[in-house]
Amino acid sequence: MERGAKKPGTQLMAQETIFIGFGSNLGDRQELCDRAVALMNLLPLSQVTGVSSYYETEPVDPEGRLGESWFYNGVVRLETSLSPTRLLDILQETERGLGRNDTDRHGPRTIDFDILLFGQQQIDQPGLTVPHPRLHQRRFVLEPLVELDPAFRHPTLHRSMRELLEALQDLSRVNKLDIKPGSKYRSRPACSVPPLS
Ligand code: AMP
Repeated sequence: MERGAKKPGTQLMAQETIFIGFGSNLGDRQELCDRAVALMNLLPLSQVTGVSSYYETEPVDPEGRLGESWFYNGVVRLETSLSPTRLLDILQETERGLGRNDTDRHGPRTIDFDILLFGQQQIDQPGLTVPHPRLHQRRFVLEPLVELDPAFRHPTLHRSMRELLEALQDLSRVNKLDIKPGSKYRSRPACSVPPLS
């Protein structure tokens, strides 16, 4: 390698404002969302700048594969220098770590992450489409997005999150919860070291 050249994969990306949606409808939903938020705070090259409230939401699933249990959903905003594909890899690894069943990806899920928006980037490659193609059709995504950043503009629809919510047809039920997001992991470490004997 030439002197001064960077090792492959180590080039710094420009920092972007991004939004990640998360949801859980299997197991202890609050606990799983708290863990998800705590793990977003540990992402490399990233800084969490906002966490929405949690919302309890009716499953949106005409084929009924998600089961009847309602979801807990929310959205996290970050500043990141991770690439979109690196971020997706980490999120999928985190889904597995939180017990997501890879063999039934359409069924009830302990945790699901979606990259909703990645700055103003438009990405269309196998396994990754950004902006998320159903973002503007889902109340459980738009309500937390509007709570976090109502003026953020959708890069292809050229409307703000608030305008998209106002135009929304989705009538599924979405109830904002009076719970502090991530509260379980703010006051104590996720694991503690036993005292020396
Ligand atoms: P699900 O977990 O059911 O939401 O779907 C995950 C699948 O969608 C994975 O195979 C991803 O590669 C793919 N995918 C495409 N675009 C996105 C995105 N913007 N965020 C997360 N997963 C995505």
